[in-house]
Amino acid sequence: MSYWHIQKLAHSKNYKYVFLDLDDTIWDFHANARLAMKDMFDNRGLIRYFENFDQFFDIYAKRNIELWELYGKGEITKEYLSIERFRYPLSKMGVNDEELAEQIGQQYLDNLPTQTALMPHAIELLDYLTEKKYPLTIISNGFVEVQYRKMRSSNIEHYFNHIVLSEAAGALKPDKRIFEYALELNGAKPSEAIMIGDSYAADIVGAINAGIDQVYYPLHYPENDEKPECTYMIGTLKEVIAIL
Ligand SMILES: [Mg+2]
Repeated sequence: MSYWHIQKLAHSKNYKYVFLDLDDTIWDFHANARLAMKDMFDNRGLIRYFENFDQFFDIYAKRNIELWELYGKGEITKEYLSIERFRYPLSKMGVNDEELAEQIGQQYLDNLPTQTALMPHAIELLDYLTEKKYPLTIISNGFVEVQYRKMRSSNIEHYFNHIVLSEAAGALKPDKRIFEYALELNGAKPSEAIMIGDSYAADIVGAINAGIDQVYYPLHYPENDEKPECTYMIGTLKEVIAIL
């Protein structure tokens, strides 16, 4: 089946409900995490252990991705993840201080949700979807106390009819149960919903598992333009306006 044909089929559908991931889909997690980490790094004087901020951040970021994958598979707890991602860069520099790791981890988590950077065209898209009367639902694997603060800081909470977080739904994306929970809250059938997200493994595979069409918004748009299995792939949120 050609790409064009898939697009045409999808276009013939009548979507009524829009599901959105939060981090790196609407709220610019990458930019905000870096800003929050820099604030914490300066405030705690971590420069005494590292050559510079970038060195610390690179070690942290790589470990953080691995840990989130393990958390997604249910292999580690949220508590372990929160401390380990800071214990690891410190230990790499010969500093074995679990208490410090816990403190800076907490300071980072406190600061992060106060940051307000959104993805380009996020507000434009949310305004458009609201004007078109699509009920909007956030579906996120992030922590409850953190996700709500992010949405309040960046003043976007009012756009959403429902906010479905994995801790409350009892399942993590890509488990189809979190999507089914969102469908039930909206009184929607899978064919009436569309999911927009940046994570192929969580958002796109999850929506496919639940029989929901998907808009893949990868953080790095593939240079060869090769489209993985998904209903749509976009390079900017503006393109959603052409779909809905
Ligand atoms: Mg995301």
